[in-house]
Amino acid sequence: MSEIRKHYFLEKYCIIARARAKRPTDFVKEREPKPKPKPETCSFCPGNEDLTPAATAVYKYESNKLTIQKDEDNKQVKNWEVRCFPNRYPALPGHEIIAETPDHEKHPSDFTDDEITRLMQVYSDRTTHHLKNTGTEYVSLFRNHGRDAGASLSHPHTQLMPMPLVPPLIMQELTAIKEADRCPYCDIVEQESGGERAIIENDHWIVFAPHCSRSPFEMWMLPKKHISSITAPGCLTSLGTTLRDTLLKLKTLLNNPPYNYMFFQMDNSSYHLNIRIEPKLSIAAGFEKNTDVYINTMPPEDAARSLREINAPLKI
Ligand SMILES: [Zn+2]
Ligand SMILES: [Zn+2]
Repeated sequence: MSEIRKHYFLEKYCIIARARAKRPTDFVKEREPKPKPKPETCSFCPGNEDLTPAATAVYKYESNKLTIQKDEDNKQVKNWEVRCFPNRYPALPGHEIIAETPDHEKHPSDFTDDEITRLMQVYSDRTTHHLKNTGTEYVSLFRNHGRDAGASLSHPHTQLMPMPLVPPLIMQELTAIKEADRCPYCDIVEQESGGERAIIENDHWIVFAPHCSRSPFEMWMLPKKHISSITAPGCLTSLGTTLRDTLLKLKTLLNNPPYNYMFFQMDNSSYHLNIRIEPKLSIAAGFEKNTDVYINTMPPEDAARSLREINAPLKI
């Protein structure tokens, strides 16, 4: 039986197509079999810094202390941990790349606690930096993993795009939030906590498969405390490790699928930060484009159970 489900608080719908429901293993077959081999010259790898525009922030250890440096001529700062620089082909001014690690093969799902926590600190620093610029209304922070999810270069990286407008999706949410008695995301935290769609829960975060999942294995990660962006005090507490553990579960269950993760955040106290992880396992086709209603063949309750049961082999 198929079921039409409504978004928690927006006029958005999906169809959970149980008759077409698949097992998690069915999704493993549908993705690209192995990652692309390392190119001979990766412009994000150490030693090739001069192939990118001048770095805006380079994170490296000096006397065991993490420092942040600019590198105007791309020559001064070697042995970096994280390197931020403008996109050579920016979609908008300010479009920035964050090379997450010097290791071409290591992705956040396999980061140590220190590495993932440092990356979240960089996200926070760069968001703060871009929000200071006049004319920036929104900072889009996202990661594409795998060619099918839009990553054109295989070196582990995140992108950040300051925008001169608030995206319509966020405007729609802000309007709904304003009309509500209390924050709808705080309600979602209560509703999903300890429930059948919960995947990871700790003192600060809940990761769950949303009731209205538009695509298989979609996950949302919400801070339990009402905070509006990654720059909020206390936000970094276990943010990285929770995100890393989520990605590791996904990687283990579905054999490293392509995915996007996105930070939805505002410099506006009524907004509630949310991070969405969307594996790219289905395509939006004619019906979805015609109606903006998504058919999902993986009931979120089943997706959550499979992910919850994965004891990701923590190699760290
Ligand atoms: Zn590389
Ligand atoms: Zn809230």
